[in-house]
Amino acid sequence: MSEQSIIKPGRLFVYSGCSGVGKGTIMKELIKADSTIRLSISATTRLPRAGETDGVEYFFVTKEKFEEMIAENGFMEYAKYCNNYYGTPKKAVEDMLSQGINVFLEIDVVGALNIIRDYPQCVSIFILPPSPEVLEHRLRKRGTETEEQIQNRLGAAKREMENAEKYQYTVVNDDLDKAVQDVLQIVYKETGRA
Ligand code: 5GP
Repeated sequence: MSEQSIIKPGRLFVYSGCSGVGKGTIMKELIKADSTIRLSISATTRLPRAGETDGVEYFFVTKEKFEEMIAENGFMEYAKYCNNYYGTPKKAVEDMLSQGINVFLEIDVVGALNIIRDYPQCVSIFILPPSPEVLEHRLRKRGTETEEQIQNRLGAAKREMENAEKYQYTVVNDDLDKAVQDVLQIVYKETGRA
C-alpha cells in the first residue's frame, strides 16, 4: 500500500465572523494549540495593511491577475467584499487536505455559503461579537480603516450576522481563551478526537 493511501484526509473548516470580531486572533491561537490545523492563504486585490506581508496574511494581487485566476478555475470560491476581490486558491487547499491537514478557510459569508453548498462535508463555524456595540468599538480601536470604511464594514457585519444561523456552529467571542477552547472542542469533535 502506498504511503499516500494510508493518510486520513483532513477536514475542511469554513470559518467566518464580521470584521473586527477577533477571528484572526482566535485563529492564531488555534494554530498554536493544534498542529493539525492550518489556515488557507487567500488571494486578494485589497492593499496590504501596515505589517501585512505578501504570502503570509494574503497573496496580494492585481485585479487583472485575480481575474486571470478566475478564468483558469483556480478558486474554490471567490467573492467581492467592500470593493475588493477575495478568493480561496483551490490547489493549495486540496493538497493540504490530502496530506491530512485540517484546513481553515477564513472567508466572508458569501464565499462561505458557496463552500457549504459545493463541499457539503465541510464544518462551518461563525464567530459572533458579544454585541454590535462591542464590535464597533473593536473596529474603531484597531484604527486601520477610514470612517467610510468602518461604516461600510459595520453594514457588512450586520448583513453577515443575519446569516450566522446558516452555519453549523456559532461561537461568541466575549473572552478570547473561552472562544479558542470552544472552537478547539468543535475541531476535536469533528476530527474524531473528542
Ligand atoms: P480583510 O480585508 O479584513 O482582511 O477581510 C475582509 C473579509 O474578507 C473578511 O470577512 C475575510 O474573512 C474575508 N475573506 C478573506 N479571504 C477570503 C476569501 O478567500 N474568500 C472570501 N469569500 N472571503 C475572504
